[in-house]
Amino acid sequence: MNFQDKLINPQNTIALIKEYEFSFKKRFGQNFLIDAHVLEKIISGAGIGKEDTVLEIGPGIGTLTQALCEAAGNVIAVEIDHDLIPILDRTLAAYDNVRVINEDILKLDLAALSKKPLKVVANLPYYITTPIIMGLFESGAPLKSITVMVQKEVADRMQAAPGGKDYGALSLAVQYYSSPEIIANVPPNCFIPRPNVGSAVINLIKHEVPPVTPEDPDFMFRIIKTAFSQRRKTLVNTLRSDRELGFSKEQLETVIKDMGLSETIRGERLSLAEFAGLSDRLLELKKV
Ligand code: SAM
Repeated sequence: MNFQDKLINPQNTIALIKEYEFSFKKRFGQNFLIDAHVLEKIISGAGIGKEDTVLEIGPGIGTLTQALCEAAGNVIAVEIDHDLIPILDRTLAAYDNVRVINEDILKLDLAALSKKPLKVVANLPYYITTPIIMGLFESGAPLKSITVMVQKEVADRMQAAPGGKDYGALSLAVQYYSSPEIIANVPPNCFIPRPNVGSAVINLIKHEVPPVTPEDPDFMFRIIKTAFSQRRKTLVNTLRSDRELGFSKEQLETVIKDMGLSETIRGERLSLAEFAGLSDRLLELKKV
């Protein structure tokens, strides 16, 4: 599909911004995409077709939105910045399959947005990447997938496997809900203004059933958060130092040994399945 003739490009992006006397707001993470190849990668990576309803977070001046309107059945675009609404009225005037909502995505009832399955596609404002993604997963909205531009370092953390420096609570939370795959690395010169970090497009395909079923997922995430709070310490010492959890060194060593793991293991070596097992065993201890 060739969007380039019809859609916003670097030249008319600058012209539009000048005409509307729009000034970029750092506090809203405004870095607008100006690269048609990246747009095509996002659309094809998200696998958008006419049967799809797409939620876009932060349409900006509508560059990605136009491409989504071309490819999808329906588009819901949520933009916080009131100053962008008149620009969007103009750039999206040719499309009758888009609804623009001038709201903060973090304050919207996401589950009420659509009854149809939703694909989320966005060039995210980086300052709220994690709350947006976790908010989407936890909202109960009928999500199928999330295909988003994020800071490269954050994409690496989402996709990381146990043992490496990027692996942490974010990897485990994202992988509990979805299968992540980085589909493109995007340099700063693909945006106006240029961000001072590298970017990547990541595809998160939501699991139909979670890969693990701990008795109390909230407790598992509580354990995970503590396990990564002091990465250099052993798992036993980190969990023991959390007074609220209230486990003794002996209790923790016994549980970890019973799982066939070393007493000196660090949290960063445990898989999601092992955290689920650990969480269930610790929950049992709490019941005694
Ligand atoms: N989609 C456009 C593009 O690719 O050129 C703009 C992407 S820009 C990185 C992020 C967009 O998210 C901006 O338009 C910004 O105003 C908007 N935004 C920031 N915080 C938001 C929030 N809490 N809710 C909705 N939109 C937000």
